[in-house]
Amino acid sequence: MQVGQIRFRVFFLLALLVGLFATTAGQAAGYRTANFVIEAPSDQLARRIGDAAEQYRHDLAVEWTGQPLPRWSRPCPITAQVAPNLGAGGATSFVFDRGEVFNWTMSIQGSEERILDSVLPHEITHTIFASHFRQPLPRWADEGACTTVEHPVERARQHRMLIEFLRTGRGIAFPEMFAMREYPADVLPLYAQGYSLARYLIERGGRRRYVAFVGDGLDSNDWATALGRHYGVGDLANLQQTWLDWVKKGCPAPPAAIAAVISEPATWSPTTRGQSPDPAPSRQPSPERLATTTSRQSIYVLQARRTQRQGSSSLATEPAPVSRP
Ligand SMILES: [Zn+2]
Repeated sequence: MQVGQIRFRVFFLLALLVGLFATTAGQAAGYRTANFVIEAPSDQLARRIGDAAEQYRHDLAVEWTGQPLPRWSRPCPITAQVAPNLGAGGATSFVFDRGEVFNWTMSIQGSEERILDSVLPHEITHTIFASHFRQPLPRWADEGACTTVEHPVERARQHRMLIEFLRTGRGIAFPEMFAMREYPADVLPLYAQGYSLARYLIERGGRRRYVAFVGDGLDSNDWATALGRHYGVGDLANLQQTWLDWVKKGCPAPPAAIAAVISEPATWSPTTRGQSPDPAPSRQPSPERLATTTSRQSIYVLQARRTQRQGSSSLATEPAPVSRP
């Protein structure tokens, strides 16, 4: 009895150790697709994430650019931490060099549900933009657009935060926001406001027009002209006021006539930018364009653990109280 108990305990301890080792080494469970190599806690999860990643890569590329992405020369490694109560988050890194993009790495974490319906499509959209534009986007345009493909619960959360930021003077003036190539110290307002503006523009012109607009702005570094060309808005201050009025009204859907135009694919003509390396800028080149190699990391908003700071970056226009959704 005594011996049996000890043996049982030893066996139990061994089983526990094996279990611990399996949990630690669980990340070794892997799955490979055409464009991704996934490490996840189990084979089943790795397969689910890998298949979803390929599906998003195809579907979202078509939605944003009108065509699927060509296969990458090397797959993007995805490391996934999956647990029911793990906060949703992710980070994707890549390198731009002379108009090419490579050295992908992606880390994602969260519940299986949130990874599959929000974190993964968000991070995959970053890789689609990097592959298409071959240069860094202004952060608001990048993070804002990536947030529009998340689950409605996540998008609603961004909207609630936006209202709070606008009420407490943490909004970012548009001229300043459009000039931001990096994350500001107070990063959450950039996500919330970037998402809201991307949503506003996409609801008025669709995703492909948004991509054409961003491409135009990147090429010319003249965002006001790009806005005028694609959205009929003359300058950033004007857009800021129109957008703010829309937020104050509770973000109403655009008139049916505009929605009908958006669904018309003929309004969009494909760009060849994604195929050609870094065309010469027609105006002042940004520092990123001068550097031959630019390392880029995009973070998911919940991963951002920056110190919150108030002050200089506040939106100039004080918004009137807005009713919560
Ligand atoms: Zn992101």
